[in-house]
Amino acid sequence: MQGLLRLATAGFLAFLGLAAAAVAMTGEKAEFVKLADDVYAYVGKRNDANAMVIVTNQGVVLVDTGNNQPDTRDLAEKIRSVTNQPVRWVVISQYHGDHFGGSPYFTPPATLIVHDRVAKELREMKPYQIKSWRKRFPERTAALEGLAPKDMMMSIPDRMTLNLGGKRIELIYVDDEYNIGDLAVWLPDAGVLHGAFAAYKDRHPDIRPDYSHGTTTTMLKQLEALIALKPRVVVPAHGPLGDVRDLQAMVDYVLLARQKVRVMMDKGLPLAEIIKQFHMNEFRDWDRTSHFDWMAETIFRELQGLGPIRIKIVDRDAKGVITKVTEEGRYFSIDSGDGKELRLRIGSDSNIEGIADRTKLRVGQKVVASYQVPEGFNPALGYDIIEVTVEP
Ligand SMILES: [Zn+2]
Repeated sequence: MQGLLRLATAGFLAFLGLAAAAVAMTGEKAEFVKLADDVYAYVGKRNDANAMVIVTNQGVVLVDTGNNQPDTRDLAEKIRSVTNQPVRWVVISQYHGDHFGGSPYFTPPATLIVHDRVAKELREMKPYQIKSWRKRFPERTAALEGLAPKDMMMSIPDRMTLNLGGKRIELIYVDDEYNIGDLAVWLPDAGVLHGAFAAYKDRHPDIRPDYSHGTTTTMLKQLEALIALKPRVVVPAHGPLGDVRDLQAMVDYVLLARQKVRVMMDKGLPLAEIIKQFHMNEFRDWDRTSHFDWMAETIFRELQGLGPIRIKIVDRDAKGVITKVTEEGRYFSIDSGDGKELRLRIGSDSNIEGIADRTKLRVGQKVVASYQVPEGFNPALGYDIIEVTVEP
């Protein structure tokens, strides 16, 4: 495939995922917590993505779909444990694999509800992404034959209210130029909010200089809109359940982070030095200190009015023998004959041929892979795979 110039989005640059300083963290097992009558939170294990469940007599509204396949199945089981109603709507709060990836488990018959900008992305999904989406749950292969997300979705420009079985469910979009389509879900009668991306709790926000996760400017905008609702309970995208005070804490956090970078810029420090000196020790017990470098660089760009870093992504092909497999196949290395190790990473979009799923990758297998190389970036954890074929 030819090289493409495009804005790097989530998934292309998933170099950060591994290094987590375990501090404020949800438990080793996901929890299903009742928040109000007919409203439940699925709190992901170890700060994995959360989900929210709203039961109505017209069916279940599910917000987000579980961090990975076992979590999605677990989430579906937890829903079945509290209602016989089918999941009829799946709202995507954030168009990232850990929120969207479980959608083929529920749709169809459920309908996806996404922001217009996400709908555009879904309409433009590439064949390998659709294949990978269909294959995510082997038990769903027959149900998804010939289908893609665009065949069962509705989208909203900014606000929509679902009125179901006497319940009011408000979907709220706060405009963000770069991070596409975060939808917050607000239940005014119960005082419960799914806060989408900006509502991180006890976790350093994952913002990146390619602005694929928004900017601190838009985080503040989103937080302001969410705080105005005065939620009694907040289900954050990741992390323990919170309330309006946690949204306020995130405002304080973001303002402090911006101030720190601004002070260093005023002193004339170069970016490399700002990144080196930047810390958020005031929030020492928060999860994911691995996000600091990118946060400092993002703020550095924002404060100068610079747009996102645009990274040239080049698609490459490789052929070789697997020499190492880690994290149940999420990462593996191949030797393509030149003696050099090529490290690759399987994401939620990667299409896998020849084996059922990534857990079946083994040392010694022969593979052909196409993968993406973001130019000028250190592929610390490996390059993202588009497609990998394992020879029988
Ligand atoms: Zn997430």
